[in-house]
Amino acid sequence: MSAQRRALARVNVAAIERNVATLRGHLRSETELCAVVKADGYGHGAAPAARAALAGGAGWLAVAGSLEAVRLRAEGFGEVPLLVMGALSGTELREALAARADVVVWSEREVARVAAAGGGRVHVKLDSGMGRLGTRDVREASGVVEAAARSEGVRLAGVMTHFATADDAGDGEHFARQLELFSEWAGQVKRAHPHVLVHAANSAATLREGRAHFDMVRCGVAIYGMDPFGEDPARAGLEPALELCSYVAEVKLCRAGESAGYGRRFVARGDTYLGVLPIGYGDGWRRALSERGEVLIGGRRRPLVGTISMDNLTVDLGADPAAATLRGREAVLIGARERERITAEEIAARLATINYEVTCAVTARVPRVHHRDGRHDAEAQARRQRIGDAAA
Ligand SMILES: *Cc1c(COP(=O)(O)O)cnc(C)c1O
Repeated sequence: MSAQRRALARVNVAAIERNVATLRGHLRSETELCAVVKADGYGHGAAPAARAALAGGAGWLAVAGSLEAVRLRAEGFGEVPLLVMGALSGTELREALAARADVVVWSEREVARVAAAGGGRVHVKLDSGMGRLGTRDVREASGVVEAAARSEGVRLAGVMTHFATADDAGDGEHFARQLELFSEWAGQVKRAHPHVLVHAANSAATLREGRAHFDMVRCGVAIYGMDPFGEDPARAGLEPALELCSYVAEVKLCRAGESAGYGRRFVARGDTYLGVLPIGYGDGWRRALSERGEVLIGGRRRPLVGTISMDNLTVDLGADPAAATLRGREAVLIGARERERITAEEIAARLATINYEVTCAVTARVPRVHHRDGRHDAEAQARRQRIGDAAA
């Protein structure tokens, strides 16, 4: 499908499209789905992910910062409703508003700041228990709503909150308390300002609780086919969109007592063949996976041995001299081949982190190749070409 590279992320935009359609299937037909494409689409490529999400039924896009919004506008998303969810410095606020993005506010001071920056559309954030951005004070939040509604040039577009424990199915209580607090406040706001868009749910809340859907849900991780609860994405009918691949650049015999890699962390107990894959932590394959992970080569799991370095890692291919025939073969670090698969959830468990961090960690050095179910995405290729030409 694509030329072999030392490290390559293949992203199936058709899977993103289907994941969004699957999520939409949980919603009432009038509920909007906002596709969260921050952090370069969780490492999948923001623009192709956004395009696929819109094709799958998303009506909004969200990012964390103003530059992300500026880039999306430049990459052909001129008219899509776009929400910048994060905190914004003065420079960033002007940038976001100039990109015609909606911004989030939680104090009257910020409403005034938006007005002073030339005005724009705002979403007022209640901190119902996340303890991060937003005001915890319901009365203050209502004051911010009224300030936004009466400020010249400012448009009260939405009210929102964010859940702290939606992904923890065992903690019904904090989630339920947040939901209750927000529902009551949002209900009041809606009675006074019926046009306001009410939104709260991330992927986990979208999948777990219909009452959290309101007018719009903000889904990130699930649109990429990762499970917000850290379990098998197939459970929720989600398809992982990203594969991370390398190849076996060299196979060599490692005699008993010989070592491989920095620090001699691996010393062969018996003669064995080692495969060298030209991918490492410089590509986002974390050093903490040294001696812990596995990769798929020839449809089988092979253990990572020795220390993962910036540009290379080694795998144990076993004592059989037939291992030499694996030279040049594809190596799959995240993805499925034949009956085996390695998910971002598996890697996350090995690293004691979450799947989000695994795909976000794939660095800019790794080219993303976008395809539709294995077919080359000629349109995306042509677009990349134009961008490349423009840059040259
Ligand atoms: C990142 C983010 C989301 C998306 O969360 P997922 O768990 O990836 O679905 C939604 N809302 C806010 C405010 C966010 O920062």
